[in-house]
Amino acid sequence: MSIKVTGLTYVYMKGTPFEKIALDNIDLSIETGEFVGIIGHTGSGKSTLVQHFNGLLKPTSGSVYINGEKLEGKRARELKRQVGIVFQYPEHQLFEETVYKDIAFGLIKRGEEENEIDKKVRKTVRMVGLSEDILDKSPFELSGGQKRRVAMAGILVLEPSILVLDEPAAGLDPRGRDEIFELISNLHKSNKMTVVLVSHSMEDVAKYVERVVVMNKGRIEMCGPVRSVFNKIDELERIGLAAPQITYLMKRLKEKIPEINDNILTVGEA
Ligand code: ADP
Repeated sequence: MSIKVTGLTYVYMKGTPFEKIALDNIDLSIETGEFVGIIGHTGSGKSTLVQHFNGLLKPTSGSVYINGEKLEGKRARELKRQVGIVFQYPEHQLFEETVYKDIAFGLIKRGEEENEIDKKVRKTVRMVGLSEDILDKSPFELSGGQKRRVAMAGILVLEPSILVLDEPAAGLDPRGRDEIFELISNLHKSNKMTVVLVSHSMEDVAKYVERVVVMNKGRIEMCGPVRSVFNKIDELERIGLAAPQITYLMKRLKEKIPEINDNILTVGEA
């Protein structure tokens, strides 16, 4: 399924002295089956943007469309169901006494039938790379990486067509990070899911996504295939996405894409 936003503006605390324009007239289309990364500094509007994708925030002005249908009115509920959002540190939301109950929570709330729930929970726990043995455990007995997977399973079990992940690897060690990104990448490939990855790590974005959206001060500063965006070093520097980081990233990218602009490799290495 696709997502489209047109003229999207969002103002926090509108009409107060603390008013803050978090999104300023954004236009963006994400096609069915795409894997898109959204990068930008803290405070650039990434989280505010993705919270519009399933109606958690309502535009101050502008519109959101899921698969071409406007996210409002009678159809809104059904459309919202198609979008699963995994927020930062999703394991903080685990609260049930067993992993099983935590994963099943959303299905129970939807009133699904017990057998169906059981099938889906077992399928999803395997999908996130865990064994069924874990289902009887308390979420609090698990490692950080396992908890994160369980929390993701709680969203995936609802079978969204679009998966949005806000800093899915935050706080994990390097191995945990790689594993989570591999998992997300596989979900995208094998389930043909539309995936939106929000991250401030350009490296992670470059490694996994197909297209990147760069946000700055509530606007989309750049948007395009990874290679073309990361080649525009001057623009990235202008909005303060650090040169040493880009240099490092380019080295890694060059291993994958030999024809990339060589001059970039000298930036930040003085
Ligand atoms: P990012 O996800 O890129 O870090 P956010 O979307 O969280 O950015 O924030 C965009 C802007 O909106 C920032 O200036 C932030 O301070 C402000 N903001 C975010 N959430 C709130 C809120 N609940 N109330 C007021 N301002 C907020």
